[in-house]
Amino acid sequence: MTAVHVPGIPIIEAGQLVSTNPATGVEAGRLPVASDADVRQAVDRARVAGEWWAGLGFSGRRARLLRWRALLAKRIEQLADLVHAEGGKPVADAIVEIVTAIEHIDWAARNAGRVLGPRRVRSRLILAEFSGHLEYQPHGVVGVIGPWNYPVFTPIGSAAYALAAGNAVVLKPSEYTPAVGQRLVDSFAEVVPEQQVFTAVHGLGDVGATLCRAGVDKVAFTGSTATARKVMAACAETLTPVLIEGGGKDAMIVDSDADLDAAAEACVWGGMTNAGQTCIGIERVYAVDSVFDTFVDKVVARAGQLTVGPEGSDIGPITMPKQIEVIRHHIDAAVASGGRAVLGGPTAVQPPYVHPTVLVDVPEDSAAVREETFGPTLTINRVRDADEAVTRANALPYGLGGSVFGRRRAVAIARRLRSGMASINSTLTFAGMSTLPFGGVGDSGFGRIHGEDGLREFGRAKAITRRRARSLLPSMTFERTPTDMARLVKAIKMMYGR
Ligand code: NDP
Repeated sequence: MTAVHVPGIPIIEAGQLVSTNPATGVEAGRLPVASDADVRQAVDRARVAGEWWAGLGFSGRRARLLRWRALLAKRIEQLADLVHAEGGKPVADAIVEIVTAIEHIDWAARNAGRVLGPRRVRSRLILAEFSGHLEYQPHGVVGVIGPWNYPVFTPIGSAAYALAAGNAVVLKPSEYTPAVGQRLVDSFAEVVPEQQVFTAVHGLGDVGATLCRAGVDKVAFTGSTATARKVMAACAETLTPVLIEGGGKDAMIVDSDADLDAAAEACVWGGMTNAGQTCIGIERVYAVDSVFDTFVDKVVARAGQLTVGPEGSDIGPITMPKQIEVIRHHIDAAVASGGRAVLGGPTAVQPPYVHPTVLVDVPEDSAAVREETFGPTLTINRVRDADEAVTRANALPYGLGGSVFGRRRAVAIARRLRSGMASINSTLTFAGMSTLPFGGVGDSGFGRIHGEDGLREFGRAKAITRRRARSLLPSMTFERTPTDMARLVKAIKMMYGR
């Protein structure tokens, strides 16, 4: 019997995972589903490949990773077309996503040696007769589990850094975007044909669960907070370290001295790019009373001009069909509890599309304010001042990113946001800055990808001491004498006893 294709819903047909475009239902990818044994074999093969890859050293890996990013750059249009075909994302959004991913590969390749390579560290007066050496060695095999909403940027945010650090990577792409995941590993194999350093295993969530238990040395998970809890539980069985990039409900604060045109433009983009299906997307806005009305008018004017549709539009279909009911519920509940739709509203939900929706005066306990909506929707609420905005922004268990528009107080406000990242007078920009770490707090996860912290996330600190002289105050030996100990006590009192 042939399974029925419902647009956007992945199915398994004759042992193959089939992905389809959420707007048209046209098949986008067909990849073999990995059995438990396949996943374990992939990890075993990756372990062998990883030893070879680690042996190339930083310069050997850098050369190959730079060739990979060159290949992706040359073929950027083809990859963007596939991202569009599989997830429905507008091609322009896909291009921006891939550009960002390429930038991260480039930075990770060029900087891994400097950040992770062997170096001397200073010793102090205590143990001055030893020199200190530090390096970050690869974990071995890193399992990367990725979501569908940024099927290039999110896996590469972990994989490029893990590879640059000398690890092999086994990727489990989302069941909604397996073809994009496979394209990434295939392109890598073109420039690194010798060994299977970066491979993919496909299937539903159970394949991800198997990967966590297949002997990987670290798991880098990007996805929802609910799945993150399962991943951590699975990894706890073997004390496998995990990195969690979870969900978010990012807030934007518009202060009284903000440039309101710039704020409105960035708010609409930050909230509605990729149809709002962005972990660091702006979902709620707190605008201070004095600028609230003008700001809302400007947002509505801009968001109202966005085009919605399958091709060449600003907003494409909702990738995961079941999310449409979540979006519908959030809008309906917000309106039922006293919120007002100043753009869109309940009628904006027209599967597989959701038209831009701006809700104001939504109660703070409403799902539209507290839970991930993942649609082209914004709540904008009025606050007395920036202090109240910060209190409300920080009231959720999530803490991924955030944005502040303003002048005098903007930096102070950004620092007070309970989040791993914030952008001032822009939205989402921290994601593209490869020199900055990316990650959240609370329900948004822990650990960091990108930047120097992102490289260190995929290396194990290895500390080495080396004797370079005889000990003047021997203490870590049974050869020590009472006189040695008395001199040590005297020295420590002189050094630290004041
Ligand atoms: P999910 O948590 O549903 O899935 C993420 C990945 O985990 C998928 O590959 C999924 O496979 C896999 N998976 C499912 N069950 C398990 C399991 N038991 N063990 C191991 N892996 C499993 O997230 P979505 O794909 O829906 O992605 C959207 C979410 O990702 C949002 O919450 C968003 O905020 C978050 N996200 C966070 C980012 C960040 O950097 N913090 C960036 C981008 C998105 P399958 O698809 O086959 O079910």
